[in-house]
Amino acid sequence: MAEKTAGLQELHRELYLRNTLVPEVGEAGQLRLLNSRVLVIGAGGLGSPVLLYLAAGGVGELGIADHDEVSLSNLQRQILYGRDDVGNSKCFTARERLSRFHPHLQFNVHPLKITAENIRALIEPYHFVIDATDNFEAKFLINDACVRLEKPFSHAGVMNLHGQTMTVVPRRSPCLRCIFGEAPSESVVPRADQSGILGSVAGVIGAVQATEAVKCLLQVGELLTGRLFTWDALTMVFRVVPLPGDLTCAYCRQENSTHHILEGQQDG
Ligand SMILES: [Zn+2]
Repeated sequence: MAEKTAGLQELHRELYLRNTLVPEVGEAGQLRLLNSRVLVIGAGGLGSPVLLYLAAGGVGELGIADHDEVSLSNLQRQILYGRDDVGNSKCFTARERLSRFHPHLQFNVHPLKITAENIRALIEPYHFVIDATDNFEAKFLINDACVRLEKPFSHAGVMNLHGQTMTVVPRRSPCLRCIFGEAPSESVVPRADQSGILGSVAGVIGAVQATEAVKCLLQVGELLTGRLFTWDALTMVFRVVPLPGDLTCAYCRQENSTHHILEGQQDG
């Protein structure tokens, strides 16, 4: 890892040139990305663009968590995969595909279904978490664990021609429970994994999530915290809806946490 901390290597300077030309990134920012760890939970319609952009952009260590296998009906939106991958593990296939960007990137494969028992150990090593799952049970599991461990994360959901996303920085911005309370029952909300979705809609929302991860890692700009980004592709209307700023849920109100946001990175 010493090579990553000494400064941008000549090869990296060219590889990430267009990143470093962004004033908010620069070489220092690119080095920070190369030393960052992001976990993407769900390597599907949202996870594909997130993983592709984060790997292409030089986030040094990416965790890929998904217990599923590629199916034929995935291919219309899950752009990490091709026809030959049907039946294979998404995790391992994604790693193979993403490894083509550059050999210095590290990929951690987590071929598991997240549970209340395994979620904390899974997210602990990472600086930022992407919720790219398609069901409320998983979304609330991720929310609760990230709040407990004070890991910033990006939440998103897509269905048909609509998408929404927001970023949560625990203890600083409202979480899913502050806003929505309990996970809605499946009888009142249609399951996203059984609904339609236009692939490009997931692509746009996933690209927003990847951008939020980079901004958070670099500590630049204004995150989608306390604000819900919504997009209606049918009318092409984007909205950023302000959310109640109060940290009202029991998870957010708890005190005496021993963890820190972006440990070791909060002062840079
Ligand atoms: Zn909360």
